[in-house]
Amino acid sequence: MLANDENAASQLAAGSRPNSRAPVEWDLLASAFLSSELRTGELRIEHSFWQPATGHRPLTTASDASDKLLSDELWMEEALRSAQRALEAGEVPVGAVVVCQGRVVGRGWNRNLTDCDPTAHAEIVALREAGRTLGNHRLGDCELFATIEPCAMCAGAAIHARVRRLVYGADDPKAGAIHSILQVVNHPGLNHRIEVRGGVLAGRSAEILQEFFRNRR
Ligand SMILES: [Zn+2]
Repeated sequence: MLANDENAASQLAAGSRPNSRAPVEWDLLASAFLSSELRTGELRIEHSFWQPATGHRPLTTASDASDKLLSDELWMEEALRSAQRALEAGEVPVGAVVVCQGRVVGRGWNRNLTDCDPTAHAEIVALREAGRTLGNHRLGDCELFATIEPCAMCAGAAIHARVRRLVYGADDPKAGAIHSILQVVNHPGLNHRIEVRGGVLAGRSAEILQEFFRNRR
């Protein structure tokens, strides 16, 4: 049987809040995210395993690149607003948006407790809404913004959706499946490639999680 702290950590890793019977080492969990924040506090450029898209894409100029970085932060603000909704609902505050051609087509925040649904992570909720909005289960022209490094389930969903680009905030040292504990996205054995950028507004993404932990001490 798992020790309580391990149990809490594993539930956090699954994106859900531990039940009230399980004493929670919130300090421990908060410090894990804090260390994540410290590691990602400075803007981190694309991971080394990022692979540029194939030749049909135009060359990117310095001006285009800075516009892109700025718009990433604006969309991440939207994801943070979603995370705030989760916080208000007592859920682990993670938010996500799906952006297609300059507009939000899907929005989600953790709803595990609300929906009694172990799959209701912010990214999954946002991807489902995007699919409905666009009338397509393939989201090849879309970018997924998530406040925290996606877990294996959400990274897998992004691959199934064929999203073009993934942008996230803080690393998740407990469950991150981009590079922290697993490399699901851009795994060498998979065909689909996703452009990845991490560390966008990472401090604020971690901060909202710390607020959640503080309120449960
Ligand atoms: Zn997830």
